[in-house]
Amino acid sequence: MRLRSIVPVAALALVAIGGARLEPVAPPTEGIALATALPGVATLSLATASAATPVAAPTIDAAPVFAAVGPLPPPELPAGATEHAELPPPEEALGLEALPPMGPSLPDELDVVHWTVQQRTRLDEVASNWGMWPEELRELNPTLGEPEWIEAGTALVVHVTDRRKPTQSVGAPNKGHLLRGIPLPEGPHWQLRDHRPRAYGSRTTVRALLDAMRAYGAADPQAPALRIGELSRRSGGRIEPHVSHRSGRDVDIGYVMRGPIGKDERFWRTATPKNLDVPRTWAFVQALLDTGEVQQIFISSKIQKLLAREARKSLPPEQVALIFSAVNRDPTIHTLIRHEHGHRDHMHVRFVCEPGNLRCRTSSVDRD
Ligand SMILES: [Zn+2]
Repeated sequence: MRLRSIVPVAALALVAIGGARLEPVAPPTEGIALATALPGVATLSLATASAATPVAAPTIDAAPVFAAVGPLPPPELPAGATEHAELPPPEEALGLEALPPMGPSLPDELDVVHWTVQQRTRLDEVASNWGMWPEELRELNPTLGEPEWIEAGTALVVHVTDRRKPTQSVGAPNKGHLLRGIPLPEGPHWQLRDHRPRAYGSRTTVRALLDAMRAYGAADPQAPALRIGELSRRSGGRIEPHVSHRSGRDVDIGYVMRGPIGKDERFWRTATPKNLDVPRTWAFVQALLDTGEVQQIFISSKIQKLLAREARKSLPPEQVALIFSAVNRDPTIHTLIRHEHGHRDHMHVRFVCEPGNLRCRTSSVDRD
C-alpha cells in the first residue's frame, strides 16, 4: 500500500485507538488446515532443518488452490458449443468463490529463522543470548551434537514455527504477553543489538518490519543500516525499563543519522537538525506506514516537524496533517505519529493486532 492510501489507515488507527478492538479477519488456523490438506501446496519439512545448512526459502507450488478440491466433473457445455469452447473457470463451475490467499499461514522465511554466529562462542552463551535453554537450542539444531563451543560462521536455527500453535499476542502492549514469539531475522539493511533475548515479536510485527526495512534498503542501497533496539521477550511480559513492549507489537528503532557511527558509540544518539538524515528517516517511516500494519509511531515533536517538512515535498498538506501530531492543530484527530516523551533518540513503532489473535488488545490499559 502506498502512502496515497494513508487516510484509510489513519481511520483504522482512529477506530483502534478509540478503544475498539480490531476485529479479526480470519483465524489463521483455517489457512493452516488448508495448507496441510491441499495436495500440491508446499509444506515445510521442519525435521530437515540443520545447523550448518540453512533451509532454503520454500517455494509454493503454483498449482491453483481450487485444484485441490479434487477432479472436476465434466463441465456441461452450453447449447451449440463445441468441445473446444472456452470453459468457465473451475471454481465458477463448482459454484465456489475463488479462495482468498492464505496470507501468513503460508510457509515462509519466518517458519525457520537462522542466525549466523559472529565469533566463536560457547553454546550456552548463544542459548542465553536468544532467551532459551541450551537443550532447546540443541533440539532446534539436531546435527549440532553437544559441542561446548560454536564456531564463527555457523548458521544456527534459532526458531522453528509450530504450525499447530501459531504465535499469539495476548493482552495490551503494557499489560500482556506473547506466546511463541518469532525472532527478527538478520539482514543486510539492519543491525540488531548483540544481546537478543528481546528480539521477539508477533508474526505481523516481524513480517511488517522486515518488509519496511527491505523496502528502505532496496530504494537506497547506500543507506546506513537501521539500528533495531528491543522488541519483546520470547514469551513477552515485563521488560525494564519499558512500560510497553510486552506483547510482541512494540519495536524501538534508531533514527537514520548523517555520517558514520563509531563502533563504541551509544546505540541511540539524540537526533538534531544537524545530525539527523531527514530524507532517509522519512523514507523509512514511509516504508513502515506503507505496510498498512502500523498502529502508532512515537516520535518527539521536534523531530516530527523536520520529517513533516520532508513529507510535504511528496504529499498534500492534508495527508501530512493526518500523519504527524506535531503539525495537526485539531486535537480530535488521532494521527499515526504522536509525540511521547523520551523519543528524541529513537522512534517507537507499535504494530496492529494480528488477525486471529482474539485475545490481543489494541490499546494500552491502566495498570493497577
Ligand atoms: Zn519503546
